Amino acid sequence: MVPRLILLALLLAGCRGDPRGPWETEAAALVVLVEWADRPAPVSREVVEAALVGEGSLSDWFDENSQGRFRWRPTVLDWVRSDRVFNTKVDCRPKQVLPHAWDLVKDRVSVKDHDLDRDGRIDELWVIHSGRGHNNRVSWRCFFVERNVDVADLVPAQRGGVFQAQGLGAIGDELPIGLFPHEAGHRWFRFDDQYGQPTKGKYGIGTWGLMGVGQWGPHARIEQSTMWRRPTHLAAPHKAAVGWVDPLRLDGHGERDLDLGPIEEVGGRAVEIPREGFSLWLENRGPSGFSRDLPGHGLLLWKQTGRTVRLIQADGRDDINTGKALGGRPLPPNDANFADAGDPFPGAENVTSWEGEGVRLSAIRIEGDRVRLRVAW
Ligand SMILES: [Zn+2]
Repeated sequence: MVPRLILLALLLAGCRGDPRGPWETEAAALVVLVEWADRPAPVSREVVEAALVGEGSLSDWFDENSQGRFRWRPTVLDWVRSDRVFNTKVDCRPKQVLPHAWDLVKDRVSVKDHDLDRDGRIDELWVIHSGRGHNNRVSWRCFFVERNVDVADLVPAQRGGVFQAQGLGAIGDELPIGLFPHEAGHRWFRFDDQYGQPTKGKYGIGTWGLMGVGQWGPHARIEQSTMWRRPTHLAAPHKAAVGWVDPLRLDGHGERDLDLGPIEEVGGRAVEIPREGFSLWLENRGPSGFSRDLPGHGLLLWKQTGRTVRLIQADGRDDINTGKALGGRPLPPNDANFADAGDPFPGAENVTSWEGEGVRLSAIRIEGDRVRLRVAW
C-alpha cells in the first residue's frame, strides 16, 4: 500500500500540473526564418535546418549531453519576408522581434502542433533572421527576452529566442548553436560564466565546459568563421543540475573502485563527492561526438563551490589559468591554452593518482572506453 502522505503529494503534484522543466523529456521548437526587406536571406532554409537537426546539430548536442533524456524537436519554416528594414537597435530585441515574427506566420501554423506538454502554448518559438549586428559584443538580451519580461506575454509560447542566421553580431558565418544552450544555461538555470578572467590570462574551465569557452568550440585554434558550431559538453555539475545525469554520491567516508563509462553515452555516470562547503565531481570525458576534437580525454576532476566550477588539471600546471592576457574577449583562433592533453587523468603526463581535500584517487586508468580508479574519501 502506498503511504497516505505520498499519495497525497502525488495527487497535489498532479493537480498543480507542474510545468515541465525547459530541458526535461522533450520540447518542440517552432523556428521562424525572417528575411528583413533590405537583407536577403544569407543561407537557405536547409542550411539552417542542418544546424538544428541531424548529425552534429543542436538537436544532436541535446541528445548526447542529456544521454537521450531530452529530445529537442525543431520545425524550421520557410523564410518569410518582412516589410521592415533591419534596424540594429531593435531588431535583435526579442520584445520587438518575437511578436512581429509571430504575426507573419500565425495564420498558417497551429499551436497544438508545437505544444508537446499540452499547455496551450508553443514550447519554444525561435526567430532566426537575416540581419547582422555590427557589434561583436552582443548581450544576452539580444537573443533572450529580458529577465522581467515573460515570453508568454508577447506570443503564445513558453520560451523563445532571437538569433542571426549567421554568427553572432559581426562574428562567425554559422548559426551559433553553442550560444543557445550557453545563454539558456544563464537564463533558465542561473549558471554563471566560467570563463575566468581573460584580461589576466585566466580562462576558467576553458573548453572543457559549455559555460566556459566550450560554447565556442573544442579548442583555441578553431576558425572564427565556425565558432559556436561544435560546442562542448556541459561540465558534470551543470549536467547534474539540469537533470541529465544522476550522480553517484559518495557521502561520509569510504573506499571503493569506480568504473565510469563515457559521459557522451547512455549510462555514463558522474560522481559527486560532497565535502564541507563544496563538492568534487568526476566524469569520464570520452573521445566521441561533441568531445571528439577536445585535446584529450579521460577522467575530469571538478571542484564546485556554490556557482563556481573549477577544473583540477591532472598535470598540476593549471595552464588554463596561467596564460597570456588576450584582452576582454579572447576570440579564437589564438595561442592561449583553453585546454590541453595533460588536463584529464591519466592524460598526456600519465598521472594516475591525486590527493587533496581529504580525498584520494588512485590507479586511474583508461580501459577501452572506461575510466577505472580507486577512490577513498
Ligand atoms: Zn555567458
